[in-house]
Amino acid sequence: MANILYLIAAVCFIFSLKGLSSAESSRNGNICGICGMALACVATYVKIDPACLSINPWFTISAVVIGGAIGILIAKNVSMTSLPQMIAGFHTLVGMAAVLIAFSVYCAPKLFGIMSLDDEISTLSLAEMCIGTAIGAITFSGSMVAFLKLQGVYKGHKVPLPLNAFLLSSIVCLIVHFVISQRCDAFLLVTIFSFIFGATLIMPIGGADMPVVVSMLNSYSGWAASGIGFTLHNDLLIITGALVGSSGAILSYIMCKGMNRSLIEVIFSSGYENLQAASASSEIKPFKKGSPEDAAFVLKNASSVIVVPGYGMATSQAQHALKEMVDLLKKQNVNVKYAIHPVAGRMPGHMNVLLAEANVPYEDVFELDEINRDFASCDVAYVIGANDVTNPAAKKNQSSPIYGMPILDVEKAKSILFLKRSMGAGYAGIDNELFYAQNTMMLLGDAKKMTEAIAKAM
Ligand code: NDP
Repeated sequence: MANILYLIAAVCFIFSLKGLSSAESSRNGNICGICGMALACVATYVKIDPACLSINPWFTISAVVIGGAIGILIAKNVSMTSLPQMIAGFHTLVGMAAVLIAFSVYCAPKLFGIMSLDDEISTLSLAEMCIGTAIGAITFSGSMVAFLKLQGVYKGHKVPLPLNAFLLSSIVCLIVHFVISQRCDAFLLVTIFSFIFGATLIMPIGGADMPVVVSMLNSYSGWAASGIGFTLHNDLLIITGALVGSSGAILSYIMCKGMNRSLIEVIFSSGYENLQAASASSEIKPFKKGSPEDAAFVLKNASSVIVVPGYGMATSQAQHALKEMVDLLKKQNVNVKYAIHPVAGRMPGHMNVLLAEANVPYEDVFELDEINRDFASCDVAYVIGANDVTNPAAKKNQSSPIYGMPILDVEKAKSILFLKRSMGAGYAGIDNELFYAQNTMMLLGDAKKMTEAIAKAM
């Protein structure tokens, strides 16, 4: 019975991933995932204690209720812009769970039924347990550092490559030593070294590479769960872990491709050094400042406009005001499209979610590859709270932390309207030469208030 439920839950997870791959079906995908997880919990309980004799059911029920309530509370209160931190925070839980389960199994192997006939833990189980712990510990500390970075609490540190190489090789040697000797101190050392390695791996990664890191940690947390699934002989944990692990790895690959970087470059990049160098050079240059009335005039006289949303639109929640302004333009027969960069905002799909929330038609929204050549023929690029994703330094400046990342070719538009509050930098901490271009008008102010003022002036 439990195995059939596990199978149904696994199918639910696969349909959930399928549903989450597009904005229209994501709600159903999410519901499918919730059903799968509920089935998995029931099945696990039935499998461990079918007659409810050895475990007090209230113990389990209260754990589910308290955990679920905390989850709902966090999800209801988290702002859209803090979602990446929340995801990184949840990955710490998966990592820590993997470590704690592996320790429980090591301390009480009989309880988990992993003893061989000669009353010893099999070599395979020892290896699975130890690898699961290592990945779990790396996921925990790595996700913790990613959380602090995304929250803006911690900026990062340079870590010498030989230190990471030493930690990684020590972990591998200690795992081999543990499997051969079964010594407790080797197991403890693997865990400690892995905790340190997770942190030192993520500390130097900076700027534009953070989205890839979050997705990479997502993948690690899946492999950690899968490793523990092998130890516990739990098929569902193996399947679910593999789904999370591989989907996270594929997403990391797609994002790297979108940023024109390899995963190796991301992990071993000197992003932190570049960030320091870039933020150190800031001089005051002349720029053209406009008012909402100026912007309304430019927009009314345009026949084609491309809107480029970014993180600032999310923080000011300007998507509804933007939609109203675009509707006004459309009434005057202006052709308006939206251009979405793969890493605009602070999480994959961030802008798509916000625009869908404001009922922007899907057919008006275009990905970078689909729209980039249209900038050359468009009258106005309306950049609302975006910065790094438009920065030409990504094409020209080899020392820039975003060098190599494909960008939206906003500079090719006849006029650029740039909405932001100041001349300050975006996430990567670097200046944007577009602010000072001849065809750029800076509209300094909150994105929502400025868009409302432009719509009013129109
Ligand atoms: P940026 O962070 O480059 O720029 C956002 C701009 O919005 C800032 O320059 C800021 O300028 C402005 N802004 C902030 N608040 C407001 C407001 N209330 N009203 C108007 N403007 C505002 O964002 P982009 O979307 O262009 O680029 C995303 C960056 O984030 C990339 O570097 C990407 O690598 C990184 N990243 C992306 C993730 C993802 O998965 N999408 C995850 C983590 C990082 P000012 O302060 O002057 O207003």
